Amino acid sequence: MLRSLWGDFVGLIFPRLCLACREPLMTGENHLCTGCRAELPYTDFHLLPPEQNPIGRRFWGKLPVRHTLSYLRFVRHGRVQNLLHELKYQGQRDVGTALGQLYGAELRTAGLAADFDLIVPVPLHPRKQAKRGYNQAAAFANGLAEGLQLSSNATALRRTTHTSTQTQKNRAQRWENVATVFEVENPTEPARSAHSRG
Ligand SMILES: [Zn+2]
Repeated sequence: MLRSLWGDFVGLIFPRLCLACREPLMTGENHLCTGCRAELPYTDFHLLPPEQNPIGRRFWGKLPVRHTLSYLRFVRHGRVQNLLHELKYQGQRDVGTALGQLYGAELRTAGLAADFDLIVPVPLHPRKQAKRGYNQAAAFANGLAEGLQLSSNATALRRTTHTSTQTQKNRAQRWENVATVFEVENPTEPARSAHSRG
């Protein structure tokens, strides 16, 4: 009780803000307010087979995929853009972990956990990671693995070159570019025995 009152008192002077809508958080809320949790633009793509969701269609004729998932819809100047900004540019690594946990728990509830062996985040180039201090995808992957009760391995993939900017390439060149950029670090390691390494 005392701790909660103290927390509220500190909150009056330095209010903790919801990272999505920037409104003050209430006691018990972390990173996201209850309103945002209820109203973020969730895609619910996990409820659709790949051929029926927009991300899945991008893989047509390129790669066979079982699931194509995306947690949130990006809305310019919206709450998701605020979250991404905090995660990538304001040092709020915890945002990624928290969102991952929420999404992982949701996927698990939908019965998808058994479909995955290992959560592998896309690596950042070491230079970029050194500048930011962390890989935001690894933070999300850690949370996702926790929510799904699976392992994540942030060292399974290695970036071989510094990716030249994607925006100046056409779609085919972009696929080609990405295909040569990553290598599996240890192809013989069994996925199920891999431990969580953030
Ligand atoms: Zn909010």
